[in-house]
Amino acid sequence: MTALPTTFRVKSFGCQMNVYDGERMAELLESQGLTATSGDEADLVVLNTCHIREKAAERAYSDVGRLRRDDGTRPIIALAGCVAQAEGAEAAKRSKMIDLVVGPQAYHRLPEMVAAVARGERPVDTDMPAIAKFAALPPRRRSGPSAFLTVQEGCDKFCTYCVVPYTRGAEISRPFADLLAEARALAEGGAREITLLGQNVNAWSGESQDGGAGGLDMLIRAIARIDGIERIRYTTSHPADLTDALIAAHREIDKLMPYLHLPVQSGSDAILKAMNRSHSAASYLKLIERVRVARPDIAISGDFIVGFPGETEKDFCDTLAIVDAVGYASAYSFKYSPRPGTPAASMEGAVEAQVMDERLQRLQDRLRAHSLAFNQATIGKDLAILIDRKGRLPGQMIGKSPWLQSVFVETGAAIGDLVDVSITHALPNSLGGALRRPAVAA
Ligand code: SAM
Ligand code: SF4
Repeated sequence: MTALPTTFRVKSFGCQMNVYDGERMAELLESQGLTATSGDEADLVVLNTCHIREKAAERAYSDVGRLRRDDGTRPIIALAGCVAQAEGAEAAKRSKMIDLVVGPQAYHRLPEMVAAVARGERPVDTDMPAIAKFAALPPRRRSGPSAFLTVQEGCDKFCTYCVVPYTRGAEISRPFADLLAEARALAEGGAREITLLGQNVNAWSGESQDGGAGGLDMLIRAIARIDGIERIRYTTSHPADLTDALIAAHREIDKLMPYLHLPVQSGSDAILKAMNRSHSAASYLKLIERVRVARPDIAISGDFIVGFPGETEKDFCDTLAIVDAVGYASAYSFKYSPRPGTPAASMEGAVEAQVMDERLQRLQDRLRAHSLAFNQATIGKDLAILIDRKGRLPGQMIGKSPWLQSVFVETGAAIGDLVDVSITHALPNSLGGALRRPAVAA
């Protein structure tokens, strides 16, 4: 028998959906009377893991090992997230320190699983009961100025390199009414910006209160009507699900920020085909053109993989070419990492590690140049900045521009204020500026 925990810590790794899940787990545990702590003394530690790249499981096991304290004691350890989903009962066999294993669709059961640990059991739950978990979670409470809201989970696209369809299951959309209720609660709790999340967020579909069916644009329009919500974003989108209606929303809804994360992965049609992406380089560029017609100032961001099996120098140069053609404001770029069980893991034509390193370097240099150019183009402009944290210098605050740039400014404004800032300088990953007029209180 172990004592029931009274304090806990959730450590989230990986994507924004994991950050959201981590927040919901924390709220759930708090609703059961546990207190959050950031120190080593937590009675319960939830490791909310990510499985997207190589050695994720090994890293999770070594993180578990590090939780043993100097005096030989340790907290109750819950392995959650996508490594938990992928490893399942195997995790508890591999590490005696793991007390419970809970997948991303089952974490609403965390309190009862912790109680089972206290009774001496080692529960494992990696079921995928779709949206049951959301109904079982407590209502949202206080929020920071910028909040995440998961609207869609899972993926049916099966890109050949990706584990998500296996760890997060099939695409499901949360119901419209539940999402509006959660968005209202976030607004009441202090959120001024909501980022709608999903592995394929633009595959969201649902029925409004009057029974009309619609896509993500319908949800965005409804959230835009909530008092207190000033900004709406969504991520991550798949090119195949970027509908005309969603593109029109970018033209018509002021609160929808001019920013679109639309991963292309590669600029080579041969590689895109081998990746099972449903777009070509040309169809992707056409889509971007249509988005830009609707919203000329939109910032485009993307994801790239270099060194996919069979990628030649010519394929890679096609990727550099699409980077130049789009002029990305920001991007994430990764070396291909074979994931067990995915089709690409058994493909021939592995790219040598050294070649991969060199390509990633060249790609990142190119992407950095585009980010810098995009940021420099804002010098001299007055931008609305949503303050979201304190800077390190006295009086310095940091906020986000409409294009998701981090902006450093000296101001007496508080977290949650929207202020006008004149941009005076730009780096590849941030902007600096001076306050133009007094803060508008939140
Ligand atoms: N659903 C999104 C999409 O379609 O682009 C992305 C989800 S995935 C969690 C985030 C990014 O991780 C992908 O866009 C891809 O660039 C990268 N990624 C996924 N699997 C990978 C792998 N096996 N190796 C390297 N990067 C990978
Ligand atoms: Fe993974 Fe492709 Fe689905 Fe994105 S669309 S989550 S990359 S399978």
